[in-house]
Amino acid sequence: MIGQKAFVHFLLLLSMRFRILQGLPDIIPIGGLFHPNDDKQELAFRYAIEKINSDRTILSRSKLQGQIEKIPPQDSFHASKKVCHLLRNGVAAIFGPQSPHTASHVQSICDTMEIPHLETRWDYRLRRESCLVNLYPHPTTLSRAYVDIVKAWGWKSFTIIYENNEGLVRLQELLKAHGPYEFPITVRQLGEVNDYRPLLKQIKNSAESHIVLDCSTPRIYEVLKQAQQIGMMSDYHSYLITSMDLHGVDLEEFKYGGTNITAFRLVDPEGPEIRRIVRDWNYVSIDTNNKKGDLTTAQYRDNTTFVKAETALMYDAVHLFAKALHDLDSSQQIDIKPLSCDAVDFWPHGYSLINYMKVVEMRGLTGVIKFDHQGFRSDFMLDIVELTREGLKKIGTWNSSEGVNFTRTYGEAYSQIVEIIQNKTFVVSTILSSPYVMRKEASEKLIGNAQFEGYAVDLIHEISRTLGFNYTIKLAPDGRYGSLNRETNEWDGMIRELLDQKADLAIADLTITYDREQAVDFTMPFMNLGISILYRKPIKQPPNLFSFLSPLSLDVWIYMATAYLGVSVLLFILARFTPYEYTSHPCEKDACIRENQFTLLNCLWFAIGSLMQQGCDFLPKFSPYEWDNPHPCNSEPDVLENQFTLLNSLWFTIGSLMQQGSDIAPKAVSTRMVAGMWWFFTLIMISSYTANLAAFLTVERMDSPIESAEDLAKQTKIKYGALRGGSTAAFFRDSNFSTYQRMWAFMESQRPSVFTSSNQEGVEQVVKGKGSYAFLMESTTIEYIIERNCELTQVGGMLDSKGYGIAMPPNSPYRTAISGAILKLQEEGKLHILKTRWWKEKRGGGACRDETTKTSSTANELGLANVGGVFVVLMGGMGVACVIAVCEFVWKSRKVAVEERVSSILHDT
Ligand code: ASP
Repeated sequence: MIGQKAFVHFLLLLSMRFRILQGLPDIIPIGGLFHPNDDKQELAFRYAIEKINSDRTILSRSKLQGQIEKIPPQDSFHASKKVCHLLRNGVAAIFGPQSPHTASHVQSICDTMEIPHLETRWDYRLRRESCLVNLYPHPTTLSRAYVDIVKAWGWKSFTIIYENNEGLVRLQELLKAHGPYEFPITVRQLGEVNDYRPLLKQIKNSAESHIVLDCSTPRIYEVLKQAQQIGMMSDYHSYLITSMDLHGVDLEEFKYGGTNITAFRLVDPEGPEIRRIVRDWNYVSIDTNNKKGDLTTAQYRDNTTFVKAETALMYDAVHLFAKALHDLDSSQQIDIKPLSCDAVDFWPHGYSLINYMKVVEMRGLTGVIKFDHQGFRSDFMLDIVELTREGLKKIGTWNSSEGVNFTRTYGEAYSQIVEIIQNKTFVVSTILSSPYVMRKEASEKLIGNAQFEGYAVDLIHEISRTLGFNYTIKLAPDGRYGSLNRETNEWDGMIRELLDQKADLAIADLTITYDREQAVDFTMPFMNLGISILYRKPIKQPPNLFSFLSPLSLDVWIYMATAYLGVSVLLFILARFTPYEYTSHPCEKDACIRENQFTLLNCLWFAIGSLMQQGCDFLPKFSPYEWDNPHPCNSEPDVLENQFTLLNSLWFTIGSLMQQGSDIAPKAVSTRMVAGMWWFFTLIMISSYTANLAAFLTVERMDSPIESAEDLAKQTKIKYGALRGGSTAAFFRDSNFSTYQRMWAFMESQRPSVFTSSNQEGVEQVVKGKGSYAFLMESTTIEYIIERNCELTQVGGMLDSKGYGIAMPPNSPYRTAISGAILKLQEEGKLHILKTRWWKEKRGGGACRDETTKTSSTANELGLANVGGVFVVLMGGMGVACVIAVCEFVWKSRKVAVEERVSSILHDT
């Protein structure tokens, strides 16, 4: 490329330095081959010549003269003859023809004779080294434009409708770009016959809404028309049309359908340059000397309705040729000689002229014209146009370096949608499900939307008011939400309605799930929720007689008993070791028998006394009463004794701090240590017990066999199920979590089935089941039910988190607008008002609120039933004490009797 360019520039420089005599003849004949029905090509050819001849800045001393030959499109023999005829007369270049059958023959003759051949048609058989200069965008690059736009739209699947094999070649990059693991793309060929309906019906049945249409421009209208007839021109269909001349098709009938029809174009028919040219065409002078192909002014008028890309390219081709010839003229002596097809002959300036054309860069009707190093036009810009109510509108551009660039702003797109939406009447699919959609209770017969009421009905009403559309509510025939049958790969319920385009929106408590999102479009959620368990309320249990034992577990009670015994025994043992615990009788000062108060029984007594927080023997007696007589037998002692020695005082303090006391006061440090620790222990234990006791006595005991989904999964006595074909069932079916997998296996194995056909049926089963059935359903609906049915409650938390959204057919243009309306309602607090209205107020809302307040106000009062056990223990203890007293009495009497008998015997003897 660089070499080629340098060479040409070198020639240009040479020509400037050694400007030789002007070598071009006055008349430069150029040949044009046109088909009889190709008037526009010819017109452009002629007009371009006229324009160049009148423009004195280019080829100032020569004039171009068009030699026009008409050839039949399929007759290559005829075409060859006509080319030879033109060459025999002497021409500097051949333009056309457009038909591929004849063009290849023309090209081979031109290659042999080295005559520049200028083409303006899509031709995938381009060769690098030839005399051909093709101004049409290079096929491979053009094909990339289709790939880029499909990717920019994010189409996952689409159907290609093509007319002939060339169409497949044109779209080969699109076919290649589609990975093997992506959604399948379908390729279908338009038949020869003009009835495309069977083919379009097949596409419709496949629920495909993205279509790439590759057919000749005159057939586009008919294909679209028939697609409209079979209902394939809805809001949800998108067509990418590969023709560059869509502006030449009458799209009037398709403007208002809402179908997205997009195409690329090379020429902007509204551009000032093209408009001026089209206007001029009406006045172009006709070369009356040219007998062949004379056109009348009337015909021109007919032909000026639109400018095809190829026509504009023909105009540009003549200009390109003229510019190259002008440049070449400055460097070479050019003569045009007649050439004979029968002799081995060639035009010596042919290749120079071709090389000049390939390095020229100029602006034409089709944008910047330049060629790459291979001589192909691979650097070009296309407009992306879309059909709107005002006709085709440019929405962006594509070029080979930057790809797709949408120039329409988000705001423009949004307002366009909002405008379209205003005259629409949407069919809204729904199902009966309280409180979202319910039949209105009325004495007279209601019709239409008036039959229904509920949260979803109010919501769609609010949205319609915001966006200004009308709607008709329609119940889904099978009354289902929508689930995918994995065997048939078919959807049911509301989702099916959307896919069949029988409805435009589906609004209910329809959960946004991954599977559904793949099939249809969802707005942003209008309500958030999760799966939970609906179950009957736990039954109140009569308070336990021994509920005072409940604050501590059995283990703790056992440990406490052990600690009690252990401490008592330790106290007893330590008291044996220490000499300070021994006292003699106060009246017998020098008694040889000294007594220890810590007998085993006393130790037990001490421990239980402190555990029960009973009495303190160290009653403070303030001076002078604190002074005791150390010897009670001596009524007039010289010295008095005070029991509050330093140690005793400390002992007293800790005893009172720990709220303890006992009739038996340890005296030795060791025993007091034991006692102190024990009291500390009792302090904590008693406080804990007291704190917990309050809760246990006041809270009602409820018998609830399940607290969570795990509890449900662990048992088989209580059956549980979910709504058939709903997202809740799908959650368990698709879960990877072992508990939920187990639950799903259990639900599936149950006969009769635990699945219900509606939420209402599930609720009825829970009520009837009286604790033998739990229903897995969504928290928002549970909330609604437990507000009205006081026997029921929600068990456990939410197993997941998701939302309800409004569904619409895939590729729906209205999604953004409706999502926007939902957001607005949410921000205005209207969604909250609606929720309160339908959950708490209407249709018996708040029925269970009184019950809740009643239970909470009576909760603090303790009845005999709560504390009866303590009385029982007291009475039991009294009884045991009496029995022991009797036993002691009997035992003592027996002992006394035996002693007395022994003494009387001794006495007698
Ligand atoms: N709202 C759910 C759905 O869209 C129904 C359910 O499964 O609870 O499928």
